[in-house]
Amino acid sequence: MTPAEIERVRRRLTELRAEVEGAGAVAVRAEDIGPVPSAADEDEAPFREMDQSIASSRNRVRADQLLRIVDAERRLEEDPDSFGLCAKCEEEIPPRRLELLPFVRYCVSCQSAAESKSAKPVRKKVMDYHE
Ligand SMILES: [Zn+2]
Repeated sequence: MTPAEIERVRRRLTELRAEVEGAGAVAVRAEDIGPVPSAADEDEAPFREMDQSIASSRNRVRADQLLRIVDAERRLEEDPDSFGLCAKCEEEIPPRRLELLPFVRYCVSCQSAAESKSAKPVRKKVMDYHE
């Protein structure tokens, strides 16, 4: 990557990090949990638990994003020469892709290969011949 491209990616990472950090953790506020439920409120309890688990899964996604951004910043700092190279095939990741998703570690084809592999259920060999 050219120094200008590196600079662009660095700026983009800073922006993204500010975005993720600025959004903050999804707080589970005391008023959402509400007072200790009386007998009449018991039906609502499962919904409240659902809300809380949605909030915490959002937090997980955000924490995961932040981790990837910080990791990319570190890689860019420590080894700008190999930043932008696919971690698998070592081909250059197109600058356009890096600009959009500066924390990606794989080129499009390695990424989609990895995703389709993990998305497909593992089929037993015998099943292939009994359709
Ligand atoms: Zn690759």
